[in-house]
Amino acid sequence: MKPGGPQALVRPEILALEAYHVAPATGMVKLDAMENPYRLPAQLAREMGERLAEVAVNRYPDPTAAELKQALRDAMGIPADLELVLGNGSDELLQMLSLAVARPGASVVALEPSFVMYRMGAIVANLRYVGVALRPDFSLDEEALLGAIAREKPTITWIAYPNNPTGNLFPREAILAATRASPGLVVVDEAYYPFSGGASLLDALPRVPNLVLVRTVSKLGLAGLRVGVAIGSPAWMRELEKLRPPYNVNSLSMCAARFLLERSEVLEAQTRAIVRSRGELEARLDAIPGVERFPSAANFVLVRVPDGAGAYEALKRRGILVRTFQGSPLLANCLRLTVGTPSENARLLEALASILQPHHA
Ligand code: PMP
Repeated sequence: MKPGGPQALVRPEILALEAYHVAPATGMVKLDAMENPYRLPAQLAREMGERLAEVAVNRYPDPTAAELKQALRDAMGIPADLELVLGNGSDELLQMLSLAVARPGASVVALEPSFVMYRMGAIVANLRYVGVALRPDFSLDEEALLGAIAREKPTITWIAYPNNPTGNLFPREAILAATRASPGLVVVDEAYYPFSGGASLLDALPRVPNLVLVRTVSKLGLAGLRVGVAIGSPAWMRELEKLRPPYNVNSLSMCAARFLLERSEVLEAQTRAIVRSRGELEARLDAIPGVERFPSAANFVLVRVPDGAGAYEALKRRGILVRTFQGSPLLANCLRLTVGTPSENARLLEALASILQPHHA
């Protein structure tokens, strides 16, 4: 072990981690990352460009981000008695939340399978991570969750609503029961809210002091901007704000996000198109022999096929990138398919049907 080298200095649990992997996707039909497949209309993009040209990039960004916060409040209907903290994507907010509550010996509880960053954030913050398995059909085992909360007294319980990678919504009442049972914070991650048909805990937030919501503009069609928002009581947001790196959201992203949120009809129409396409994709997946399809309230659909790894590789050879899951028994042979444009979905369905034929070459 070289003195001064990372092996000697970096914490062993970080040495053991893998950096978040993003699969190379040049030239592929990219259905692996829950992006909105639609670009901005050319005219709107040009107007945005003109607006961006006015930004004083010689100055640091507005530290209060007041205008973008107001645009988010208006777009998301966030009441005045709740506060906001902005993140460079909601990923950063998840990290900040873990760090804020990382008292020595504290633990966090998350459902499994769910978004991997809850576990990553716990490891980075030196929190003990406790996973609570979903049932084989990915429904919530409420008894197991309440049992883990009683046993571990977690400082954070993470719930993605809808859940990634399973796509389903857990019962709202079960999440509220978790807030009542928990001495810690319950963080509800509503990254996929735009596709959930309005399912949200936002209305409960003012009455539940240990609830914090996280949302993002990424799935709304602005993943490249990296803007996420935590929503909660002024008391919680005051503490979280201390963890926020100064100027974490850059001026161009602030300007672009505000400009587009104030013209949200375009993004909303794209979101409606994605929800329509999801329904069509689900119906067509159900017609392919060998596909088990799970219900989705998000912009992706989880399926199980007889040979997940084989189907993943065969799709890749046909230029289609989806997501596969290694090392999770509950997700054995599962593929997560992001909803694309109608023509991308048609290509995916055609490829999948051909791959799953009994004698495909
Ligand atoms: N939460 C969930 C449940 C997610 O699936 C993702 C991204 N895939 C994020 C948060 C992070 O999104 P972003 O950092 O782009 O806001």
